[in-house]
Amino acid sequence: MAPNATGPAAAANDLLPVVPLFGARILYPGIVLRLSLRDSDAFARLDDNALVACVPAVPSLPPASPAPASSDGAESNQDSDRPSSPSSSKALVPRSKGAERQHAVTSDQLAEYGCLGRIVKTVRARIGPVHGAIVLVEGLTRVHVDFISAHADPRQLYASVSLLYDSEIPDTDTNLAKMVAAVRQTALALVAHLQSSLSASAVRDLRALLQSAPADQLSFALVGLAELSAGDRIALLSQDLPDRLDLILTSLRRRLDAVNLAASIRDKVGDTLSKKQRELLLRQQLEVIKKELGELDGSGGMNARDAGNDDVRDLEQRLADGKYPAHVVQHVEKDLKRAKAMNPAMAEYHTLLNHADWMLSLPWTNVSPDAMDLGAARTQLDADHHGLEPVKTRILEFLAVRKLRDALHGPILCLHGPPGVGKTSLGKSIAAAMGRQFARIALGGVRDEAELRGHRRTYVGAMPGVVVQTLKKAGTRNPVILLDEIDKLGRDPMRGDPAAALLEILDPEQNAHFTDHYLNVPLDLSQVLFVATCNSLDTIPRPLLDRMEVIDLPGYTPSEKTAIAATLLAKQHERHGLPANTVHIEPDAMQHLLFNYTREAGVRNLERSLATICRAVAVEFVGWRDQQTVSIATPERGESAKEPPFTKTVRVADLRDLLGGPKYDDDVHLRTMVPGLAVGLAYTGLGTGSVLFVEATQYPGKGRLQLTGQLGKVLQESGHLALTWLRTHAHALGLVATASDLLWADRDVHVHLPAGAVAKDGPSAGVTLATALVSLALGVPVRRGVAMTGELTLRGDVLPVGGIVEKALAAHRMHLHTLVLPERNRKDADEIPKEVRDELTIVFCAHLSQVLRVALDTPPTLTLPGVDVVGAVAAPSGPDAAAKDAIVRCYVHKL
Ligand code: ADP
Repeated sequence: MAPNATGPAAAANDLLPVVPLFGARILYPGIVLRLSLRDSDAFARLDDNALVACVPAVPSLPPASPAPASSDGAESNQDSDRPSSPSSSKALVPRSKGAERQHAVTSDQLAEYGCLGRIVKTVRARIGPVHGAIVLVEGLTRVHVDFISAHADPRQLYASVSLLYDSEIPDTDTNLAKMVAAVRQTALALVAHLQSSLSASAVRDLRALLQSAPADQLSFALVGLAELSAGDRIALLSQDLPDRLDLILTSLRRRLDAVNLAASIRDKVGDTLSKKQRELLLRQQLEVIKKELGELDGSGGMNARDAGNDDVRDLEQRLADGKYPAHVVQHVEKDLKRAKAMNPAMAEYHTLLNHADWMLSLPWTNVSPDAMDLGAARTQLDADHHGLEPVKTRILEFLAVRKLRDALHGPILCLHGPPGVGKTSLGKSIAAAMGRQFARIALGGVRDEAELRGHRRTYVGAMPGVVVQTLKKAGTRNPVILLDEIDKLGRDPMRGDPAAALLEILDPEQNAHFTDHYLNVPLDLSQVLFVATCNSLDTIPRPLLDRMEVIDLPGYTPSEKTAIAATLLAKQHERHGLPANTVHIEPDAMQHLLFNYTREAGVRNLERSLATICRAVAVEFVGWRDQQTVSIATPERGESAKEPPFTKTVRVADLRDLLGGPKYDDDVHLRTMVPGLAVGLAYTGLGTGSVLFVEATQYPGKGRLQLTGQLGKVLQESGHLALTWLRTHAHALGLVATASDLLWADRDVHVHLPAGAVAKDGPSAGVTLATALVSLALGVPVRRGVAMTGELTLRGDVLPVGGIVEKALAAHRMHLHTLVLPERNRKDADEIPKEVRDELTIVFCAHLSQVLRVALDTPPTLTLPGVDVVGAVAAPSGPDAAAKDAIVRCYVHKL
């Protein structure tokens, strides 16, 4: 394009020193360029304000290392230290920083257009190892280099130039205005895109420049941003404003497109890369986990998605094959649909499949037909359990009612009794008798409602509750489920109340729609027959107890145990691979076993001891058999009548070898009955009766009472009460001289209840405590073989207590002969097995004085105010019992 040399040629006639510019750094009007010059440079010593012609060297030059991006942005134009190139006539030697090669510039290597520059400032400075100057040159206007003249100094060129000015832009030129706006807009967009790769200050400067640069200088200011090629940069000096704007706009747009494209490619590549990398990482982890679990075959296992699809297909197949209610199908389909849309590596995927698996594993429609043949049920119960007549009758009644009414609203049976009395095995027998599946839920220690009802699916590792798990195990929707140890149900206020959940499970009104938190669909439990077991009724929450019908199994009498032992022994023969009837236990040995080795209410330890005996016999049997030349065929079941070739008779003397030393001794009878010692009867939390000793002694002190033996609050109060009663009646008993004297005013009394390590509580030892204290005060021992139980009031009345049958059995087990019971427990005594009752003398007392009369060895004549109760009840000896009976009745009336 022809230069527009319309403006005043201020310096046109003067020759201007030429400053050749190399590479990308070109001086434009409105721009200040910084040049680093050596002293040896011809124009290094120009005065400030001197004018120069800055002319770019044309790019066809051999690589005159584009003005280096030195850190300060300066370009070095300096002399060479080396000889000039022979071809250079006028040797201007540019040298780029860091480059050792030198290039001389001749006039024909300079561009046709340049820029008139004014030296703004020259600052002396060291340029590398030599002296020089930093020169700031301000671009004034474009010039056309008319000619270049030689100079005396071969390093210096001088040029005659024509100044070029842009023509005036008329205000009406909207095209141009639009173009200027477009340039600014595009440049701003580009800056916005590049912002992350530019420094904050550069962005700020660029924005300020775009706002302030006049239209004619705009294109010069944007050469860097538009990334103009070297040729275009030089061409810019020759162009008029519209062409310059056009060129810069085209370049800016090209760059913007390139930047946009690069960003979108980067995003896409980045996305796929990180996704791929994540997937790869997860797969590698999955592989390692599978390897750890031994699930991978040598081939490296299946592709996760294939495996996942297989899982879904399996479940779909099961859904198609099975019979499920509509709401279950709907839920499972939803689960599977969601799972299919997921990557199998996701945790949620497995949660969904697990849920679907649980849903499909439950017996929604599978029912065992009820075999309600009462005769067969009776046979079944009899075959499994010896004795237990009342219990069996009650169970048969229960089954009969269910048969008549298919009673959804019938009560829940609760088998109550000490360990080893057959509660669990009765549950199994009920299931067998009804032809139903049997399953058991151990409630002992369940403290969390979620254990029964399941955790919501949002929890990590959520599972259904035990009810659902048990139903899955049972495989039918109408099994017999044994709620074992319902009295041991825990409670943690922070985790909900399991008893409340159990109430819902047992309530026929509600359990048809029981909802497990995990499954989250209603499940019909109304066909399930729940049977609960417990050792004690005290700890069962009242509402739960109300819902159940309690059947007591207080424990076995020795003869029942002996009979059960025969069944258990047969069972143990089978379990240990012994031919039937190999082991025979002599009756004496059995009694010894029951009394000295397994003193318990149930038969669990008895079963264990029999197992131990069978194990020992098995060793002998194997030894014997190995010695036989003729092999002995193990008789089949049913052939038991046949005399086995090897038998072992267990005698009392053998027990020590087979079972070790006796576990219990006859402590009741071994104890010397000294004054202050009484035998009571307790009822333990395990539902067993047991014998309880009370020891009392006194020594010099201050009239205080000390109680030891891990006694609970109620028991301690009973101790104080007993002492108060004794002190109140001390005068009547002849223990103090006058009614105003305090018994043991200068003595301390210590009452202890062994075993010291076992915690004890309850009111039923009141009578025993008082008897021990009276015995101590009178110096009269309690009769050997007498045991007592009853709550004591401050006035000496004896109140009824619980666990009478269990206590009677315990007294009987301990070979005690007389039992002192509260009068108001008379009806409970009817429940005591006849065999035990017949062997015990049972005395019912309404008042402590009656107890004393029975218990104390040589009863004193007791005179209480207005009443003489001596020999009132069942006194083995004593004067005129009938008359005293009358007195007692009269006394009792007065209360
Ligand atoms: P519990 O559940 O009451 O603690 P189990 O049901 O576990 O007791 O009974 C313990 C063992 O005693 C079982 O092997 C059971 O068969 C056996 N057993 C209990 N009572 C009898 C009985 N009356 N006749 C036969 N075996 C019995």
